[in-house]
Amino acid sequence: MLDGLDPEQREVATALHGPVCVLAGAGTGKTRAITHRIAYGVRAGILQPGSVLAVTFTNRAAGEMRGRLRQLGAGGVQARTFHSAALRQLQYFWPKAVGGDLPRLLERKVQLVAEAAARCRIRLDRNELRDVSSEIEWSKVTQTVPADYPAVVAKTQRDAPRDPAEISQIYATYEELKRDRSVIDFEDVLLLTVAILQDRHDIADHVRRQYQHFVVDEYQDVSPLQQRLLDLWLGDRDTLCVVGDASQTIYSFTGATPDHLLNFRTRHPQATVVKLVRDYRSTPQVVHLANGLLGQARGRAAEHRLELVSQREPGPDPAYTEYADEPSEAEGTARRIRDLIAAGVPAGEIAVLYRVNSQSEVYEQALADAGVPYQLRGAERFFERAEVREAGVALRGAARAGGNDSLLDDAEGLPAEVRAVLSTKGWASEPPAGSGAVRDRWESLAALVRLAEDFERARPGATLSDLVAELDERAAAQHAPTVQGVTLASLHSAKGLEWDAVFLVGLTEGMMPITYAKTDEQIEEERRLLYVGVTRARLHLSLSWSLARSPGGRAGRRPSRFLNGLRPGSVPIGTRGAAGGGGIERGPGPVPKRVRRGPARCRVCGRTLTDAGEMKLMRCEDCPSDMDEALYERLRDWRAVRAKEIGQPAYCVFTDKTLMAIAEAVPGSEGELAVISGVGARKLGRFGTAVLAICAGETVEEALGETADEM
Ligand code: ATP
Ligand code: MG
Repeated sequence: MLDGLDPEQREVATALHGPVCVLAGAGTGKTRAITHRIAYGVRAGILQPGSVLAVTFTNRAAGEMRGRLRQLGAGGVQARTFHSAALRQLQYFWPKAVGGDLPRLLERKVQLVAEAAARCRIRLDRNELRDVSSEIEWSKVTQTVPADYPAVVAKTQRDAPRDPAEISQIYATYEELKRDRSVIDFEDVLLLTVAILQDRHDIADHVRRQYQHFVVDEYQDVSPLQQRLLDLWLGDRDTLCVVGDASQTIYSFTGATPDHLLNFRTRHPQATVVKLVRDYRSTPQVVHLANGLLGQARGRAAEHRLELVSQREPGPDPAYTEYADEPSEAEGTARRIRDLIAAGVPAGEIAVLYRVNSQSEVYEQALADAGVPYQLRGAERFFERAEVREAGVALRGAARAGGNDSLLDDAEGLPAEVRAVLSTKGWASEPPAGSGAVRDRWESLAALVRLAEDFERARPGATLSDLVAELDERAAAQHAPTVQGVTLASLHSAKGLEWDAVFLVGLTEGMMPITYAKTDEQIEEERRLLYVGVTRARLHLSLSWSLARSPGGRAGRRPSRFLNGLRPGSVPIGTRGAAGGGGIERGPGPVPKRVRRGPARCRVCGRTLTDAGEMKLMRCEDCPSDMDEALYERLRDWRAVRAKEIGQPAYCVFTDKTLMAIAEAVPGSEGELAVISGVGARKLGRFGTAVLAICAGETVEEALGETADEM
């Protein structure tokens, strides 16, 4: 059990009594050390599995910890997030503390926020909806009520994604809708649990009898509310082990603070404090950049930094790439990802990390265009997806039927059974073409099939009922199986995780640090966020930025200041500038077509265009259109049928703007169609013939006939 640990990690694992605090940098094996500590304690008979509560930051991390504990022979230990641990207790004690059943937990805010916005007659697009939802979350964790929101925004100089008065109105309506429907949201869970444990000593005692030992990972980001909950769980005991890295504090904006970690010794004078510096995750090249970044850091967290020492073989230098504009950056990234996959790196071992969720879209598009599977983190929880729930029902039914199905050959085992059941729900051995809803559905079902395969490998001879039980357990803990696609995630949601290849994109001033980081502390937090991003990479690390937002736009952006002195060719600022290695490239491969085209101008008034939508149209939104209306209508009719055929939303075929541009240009050849923005090579191949036929005057039916022949 202790063989896989170095001497300091072993010290952590064997310090089973009293308070323990591990202060260590990224990739030094903190999570590994505490997992082994628990398993060692259980095997040695010192810890009762049921009396240990391990708390980690994300559901995925908790799931991974449970997996590792099971492998180490300590399966009975609870590993949860603060939220899921609180929710379980809330569910259990609600009837006694409040009476009746716990109100249903709202899994996703977005839908209800959309409804609230609609009631307020405010239109939000998909990205705004996400942003407003997280704004409501921020308000709740900082305990800002709707009426105070605009004032707080003004006071903290916070950049609100919309007019603060509008957000306040949506937020208030959201809370009302929640009450009317008697549902609670994620943030309510902690607030209510703390309230109950505080008020009801009998219930607090009950919880304390159950849990004797506590382990907290990522302790630098514990919020005051979470700390309060932890204190209530502990009572007057100090059987607590915390691990964290002050340099990875990235949730200060929610009120979290590394003070709890850094002051641990003061609160617990007898604490065993262990420091780890060997980095087992990343190559010396990646570690060198990580150390260089921290070398420029300021503030309390930075004073406690430890220089990391890589334990791995050397690898490639980090790649720094400057692109002309965002779509080129996304295309270039997708191209490199395809190359990595071709070179044998599994898609599931690659991540694209960005600062804000709204950056994902252009990468989703580029990866879909490149035919690369991907998964979005922070999107709908796996087990909440309609197709996964349906699949669960089907599997349960089959398990009850108990293998009487004559279609199934017993010798083929569990995965074959699962494939047979799921093929009735839309699974097939090959994925459907393109992106969109049908593809998402397939990816979910494929993930379940893979889960069954892994499960069978781990437990040979397992039955369908065993698998159903496993799924229930995972669903309860919200631990989704890893979908074998490239991960698209925000830097925040990437903490604690690691991949072979990491692409840090959009590293421009304004995005990293983000515009609304104004104070020194806020800037330092942004730097730490980049440090978290860099240290997710085991082997390949790519950092990129683009000079303009849109093709032809003004190339007025500058690369992130945090890379000064680190990326080749830049001037160091601050005290310690290390050379980053790796050559700077200006967009790999051939220069994308649209870069050469020069600034886009309105073909009616000649004004330079910067808005992406206007650029698609090649004219200002309000300049008169010379569009062939009848042609536009026919294109739309054709699109509706095609979208249905391929099971994707209409905009996945072509957006309205692209159809308008086509109806204005009336292209007569593939070449003319190809230059219209929004018609990439893939779409040209798939839809070009039909679109040109419609432009040439064919009816929709005729054009669709042609498509059918094509297929
Ligand atoms: P973070 O700060 O990012 O959460 P961490 O300190 O928790 O990182 P881990 O995730 O526990 O680090 O470990 C990083 C990687 O190094 C993992 O792949 C882990 O298995 C490996 N590792 C850690 N310690 C050792 C060791 N003693 N021997 C071999 N591999 C190790
Ligand atoms: Mg960790």
